[in-house]
Amino acid sequence: VKRIRRFAYHEPASVREAVEILAAEGGSARPLAGGTDLLVDMKLGKTRPSVVVNLKRITDLEGIDRCNSGTRIGSLVRVSALEASPVVRPVRNLATIGGNLGRASPASDLAPPLIVHRAVVTLEGREGEREVPVEDLFTGPGTTTLEPTEVITSIFVPDLPERAGAAHRKLGKRGGGWDIALAGASAVLVFDQRGRVADARIALASLGPTVLRAREAEDTLRGALPTEDLLAEAARLAAEATRPITDVRASAGYRKTLAAVLSRRVLIEALDQARGRYPT
Ligand SMILES: Cc1cc2nc3c(=O)[nH]c(=O)nc-3n(C[C@H](O)[C@H](O)[C@H](O)COP(=O)(O)OP(=O)(O)OC[C@H]3O[C@@H](n4cnc5c(N)ncnc54)[C@H](O)[C@@H]3O)c2cc1C
Repeated sequence: VKRIRRFAYHEPASVREAVEILAAEGGSARPLAGGTDLLVDMKLGKTRPSVVVNLKRITDLEGIDRCNSGTRIGSLVRVSALEASPVVRPVRNLATIGGNLGRASPASDLAPPLIVHRAVVTLEGREGEREVPVEDLFTGPGTTTLEPTEVITSIFVPDLPERAGAAHRKLGKRGGGWDIALAGASAVLVFDQRGRVADARIALASLGPTVLRAREAEDTLRGALPTEDLLAEAARLAAEATRPITDVRASAGYRKTLAAVLSRRVLIEALDQARGRYPT
């Protein structure tokens, strides 16, 4: 482990102040949220910001608020606050939703469910605010469409329509917990009044350079009755669309097999959920 290079440190009290500091540094400053990625990367010498802008004092970035069409989640909301699990592990107590998206890991646990739920991120920069669908945020492993001077302020998750179901599954290290996914899959299925698939969205983690949409699989489902064979075929197409790598955690072949298994499982669970709530 290398020593962290010296850096200037700021704790602004507002987004505006944070944006001004980022802008003044011309790209060599980095926002810090929970630090579970950034501090590790700085220790390893993978990133060497000259300025670190800790967002923790900006109260505007906290809070989960319901409105009539969805839920707005502040970017500093902790992963531990997002889940119901009574077992809260240390990383979850620090890791934030904004940092998870800012890190742009292809193995992110939060990006696939946010993408299938059509979540939209609000960014604030020098020029003001703009909104970007989560799925348009990532350009590669660790890279985003964010300007270096922009801060993720919140994530809006629209409510699902009627007759819809959603599911997320990941396979991590044995024993579960907050462990980097070997593969992950999320699905949302929306049905029309006749029980046909009106909309299908599938997103996959750890199966390509960014979190992927399985568009061909989705197209196969749209307009069809959700038979077991159709869901299996969609899962096969989803796996076909993946571009996994072999690394220390799993081989590309194993990941492709997982892609099919997890996709099928989330599709069945999304269907069951929709049927449980709104019998078709
Ligand atoms: C042991 C361990 C286990 C992990 N397990 C998992 C796991 O199972 N699943 C998973 O998805 N991740 C996992 N991670 C990765 C990490 O914990 C998550 O990505 C976490 O959500 C990052 O959030 P953070 O607040 O700590 O981000 P930070 O480390 O503070 O920041 C990460 C990146 O995002 C940028 N950033 C942070 N906040 C903002 C903002 N508001 N606006 C713009 N940019 C911002 C930072 O500049 C940095 O580039 C793990 C990490 C560790 C160390």
